[in-house]
Amino acid sequence: MSDPPTGETILVTGGAGFIGSHLVDALVDNNDVRVLDDLSSGRRDRVPADASLIEGDLRDDDALARATDGVDLIFHEAALVSVERSVDAPTESHAVNVDGTLALLERARVEDARVVVASSAAIYGRPEYTPIDEGHPTAPSSPYGLEKATVDEYARLYHELYGLETVSLRYFNVYGPGQVGGDYSAVIGVFLEQARAGEPITIDGDGTQTRDFVHVSDVVQANLLAATTDAVGEAFNVGTGSSVTIRELAETIREVVGSNSEIVHRDPRPGDIQRSRADVERGRTELGYEPTVPLEQGLATLAGSD
Ligand code: NAD
Repeated sequence: MSDPPTGETILVTGGAGFIGSHLVDALVDNNDVRVLDDLSSGRRDRVPADASLIEGDLRDDDALARATDGVDLIFHEAALVSVERSVDAPTESHAVNVDGTLALLERARVEDARVVVASSAAIYGRPEYTPIDEGHPTAPSSPYGLEKATVDEYARLYHELYGLETVSLRYFNVYGPGQVGGDYSAVIGVFLEQARAGEPITIDGDGTQTRDFVHVSDVVQANLLAATTDAVGEAFNVGTGSSVTIRELAETIREVVGSNSEIVHRDPRPGDIQRSRADVERGRTELGYEPTVPLEQGLATLAGSD
């Protein structure tokens, strides 16, 4: 396994957001780190003093040129991450998630910089089988999923056509400190809040839906490995390979918080996917990726923090 990047000039787009800020924290001591973020959902105070923040939109040529000037490596986390919002306003979501990424890839060509792209399990849509491997057909069920499938493919194509070093990481349900809302793992934050307040924990549907929740520190690990791997032009799932039912999640959260909230059920969410679980063997073999945080442990850490 290779060493993490050191002494490089690195851009983290979306570095003021949830995942991006954890990535910046992991890089900033040993590299020159820049963040490009329009602060639409990210927060200025998440960017450490040793990293420089360029406040601007990915689609702004000037901001993008400043952010990418002389970079060796780019972690592309900036996106409009709301599935719901992509359904309501697909044009806006496409403009940021696809056009913005394409503009970034073009700048990366000029700089000959490696790009690690945040893709998503949403590209698979309703799974035909689990665990979901990278060869699973993509059939996104939202504009957001389609946008991520498109940029995931663009990353591959930029490697094929232009020899650009790209890696796509298909995150499953990421959770961890500093997460605010979002569609993916918001359920963890909501359940934690309900459990702490002693209010009923509300499950949409019967709670038999399964999800693969991956701790943000493992997502950071996958990104650092992608930064130096020889397996460029490829895509990797980033999950744990295990899943839990939403009912089990509610029970575990109740336990780690030490709450006696009752668990109640509401109507199922329309279009909710029943089963999701990553096959992480490709990442294990080719990147040396190894998920390290079991859900119960990750939740216990979260339950203890505010
Ligand atoms: P986040 O909303 O916390 O971070 C996204 C960041 O991008 C924010 O800081 C936001 O201000 C910034 N941003 C949005 N539009 C921008 C624009 N036009 N120009 C510049 N900056 C912009 O979300 P996150 O959960 O940290 O997600 C990071 C990446 O991971 C995203 O690409 C997301 O699609 C992907 N992803 C996340 C999950 C998850 O479970 N959180 C799962 C799969 C994929």
